[in-house]
Parts: sequence; C-alpha cells; structure tokens
Amino acid sequence: AVYDDRSAPRRRTDNYTGKAAEVASHYNMRPDVGVEHREYSPIIGLKKFNNWVKSVLIGKFAFRERGQPGAKVMDIGCGKGGDLMKWKQARIELYVAMDIAATSVDQARGRYNDLRGHKFDAYFYPHDCYGKSINEVLPNHLQRPMYDNVTMQFCMHYAFESASKARMMMENVSRYLRRGGVFIGTIPNSQLLLERLDEVPEGEALQYGNSCYSVAFNERRHKGLYGHEYRFYLQDAVEDVPEYIVDWDNFVNLAREYGLELIYRKTFNDVLQEEQGSRDFGPLLGKMGVINQHGESAMDSDQWEAANLYMAFAFEKTR
Ligand code: SAM
Repeated sequence: AVYDDRSAPRRRTDNYTGKAAEVASHYNMRPDVGVEHREYSPIIGLKKFNNWVKSVLIGKFAFRERGQPGAKVMDIGCGKGGDLMKWKQARIELYVAMDIAATSVDQARGRYNDLRGHKFDAYFYPHDCYGKSINEVLPNHLQRPMYDNVTMQFCMHYAFESASKARMMMENVSRYLRRGGVFIGTIPNSQLLLERLDEVPEGEALQYGNSCYSVAFNERRHKGLYGHEYRFYLQDAVEDVPEYIVDWDNFVNLAREYGLELIYRKTFNDVLQEEQGSRDFGPLLGKMGVINQHGESAMDSDQWEAANLYMAFAFEKTR
C-alpha cells in the first residue's frame, strides 16, 4: 500500500534559512527525463557508476538484524526516487523518503506507484531536513527509533552551510535509527577538493574542472568549520549550485556526539578496486552498464575524474 500523506505540511519557500531556497529551486527545476531518456545523457557512464556505488552501499549495509531482508529505511534527500529500484532489490519492508524539493518528491512518489513486483510500504514528504526536525512531518507510528538504515546520497554536504544545519541534519539522522542500524551516504571528498584548489596558481580564478564538471570557490581558506562555499556544476545534473566543504574530522566527531561511529569510508575509486572482483558486486558492473561486454568502462577520462571527487561512508548507531 502507498500512504500518500498529502495532509503533511507543504513546502514554504519563505521559511527557508541560508541558501536552502536556491538549492530547492534548482532541484525542483531539473526535468525528470525517465530511465529510457537517461541513456542519452552525455554523462550516462558516470551516472551508472554512481548508481553502482550506491548499490554496493545498499548491498553491504541494508538489512535487518541478523542479516535478514526486510529493512526499514529512511531516505533523506531522496530526490526523484532514483534509488527505489535498489531498495526494492534489497527487499526492504518500509521506505520513508524526504526531500526539500517538493516537485522531486512528487516524482519519487510517482515512480514508487509505477514499481512492479515486490512492494514495500512507502511514505513521501517534502521537507527541509537540515532546517527543521523531521518529526514535524512524520506521523506518530513512523517516529519510533525503528529504522535499520538512514541513507543520504549525494546530499549531506548541503547541510554544512552552518553548524545549526549540520546539527539538525545529524539529529534527524540519528533520532530514529535503531541501535546497530547503519547510516550510509555519499559526499564529495572535501580534502581532495581543497587539494585541487591549492594547485590553482596565486592570482588566478579559484576554479577548476574539465568538460563535465566545474568547482568554483570564493575563498581559498575559510574561518570556521562550516560555510566554506563552492559553486558546483556537473553536466546534465547540477547547474551552478552552492555546496559546502565537509571537514571530515569535524563530521566524524559530530556524528559521534549523536551516537554514530564510523565503520566504512572509501573513495569511489577504492570502492571500485575493492568490489569489482567481488562475487556480490562485480557482476553488477556489467548488469548496470558501468562496463560493456568487453569489460570496457562506459566513462571517459573526464567523467572518471568527476566520479573520483566522491566518497562513500557508513556509520553505525552504537548508543
Ligand atoms: N539522493 C538522490 C540521488 O542520489 O539521486 C538525490 C541527490 S541530489 C544530487 C541532492 C538532493 O538533496 C536534492 O534532491 C536536493 O533537493 C536535496 N536536498 C538539498 N538540501 C536539502 C534539505 N535541506 N533537505 C532535504 N533535502 C535536501
């Protein structure tokens, strides 16, 4: 059954703080081209690789106690629901999804309604998960610390605009995760972003990139651990959006404050090196179109460079 909770509070753009409105309107305006049309994307190889990395994370960490299927999952920053098929394959029981971009949430709900085969219960809410507590939108029966996984794919870095947003995000992640549950995510590798910035000669514009992505900073160094902004562009995906450096050590310490301990951290390149030969995830590279039947990558070198800006992580809720 789908519980289409339209009585939940709707998006109030005038209520956002900082740059959240800009981020929301960017994602609201991205067209939903559908799976078939996606094949024509100039960065289809990169998109498939990103999907494969997310499938690895889901395959490794999405389960109920004792490795059973039937996980209860909360997807924060779910976007257009691009991971629904992966969760379906993981045979989950419950999927609760939120995103600040209300149009994307509607599209995710639509995709869920179109899913065939094994169906799990699903709930969709438009919500600013870094500006406000998610208990404002969750009905009582979804508010227990019962979730086996919280997932934040390619979206957590937006919370590092300020300390208060990062804390609200952490509170939202940790609050309903059960003990032993796992928080998984993918974010840009900020250390790498800053190393690349260091390579820009003095006096030149603080930007770099290639044919498929660009990163542009206003400041080389930033005072404080939050709000170090850069503008990000990724061909056919992200059009000049403000994003924020995630200081890794600060993130790990913050997570610990919320009862979460780091159990996995890998660059995308390392994920590939480790898992391409594995029985569980190696064959998926071909099935998901990351490599062709000759074992050749669907990514060109520019896409590969963009892919390697990212890293994957997992934290376990220990208390
Ligand atoms: N997780 C999806 C995926 O992997 O395809 C979408 C990733 S997209 C790059 C980033 C998402 O983060 C967007 O859908 C955006 O609206 C969402 N986002 C950004 N700030 C948010 C916030 N404050 N609360 C909830 N979602 C947010």
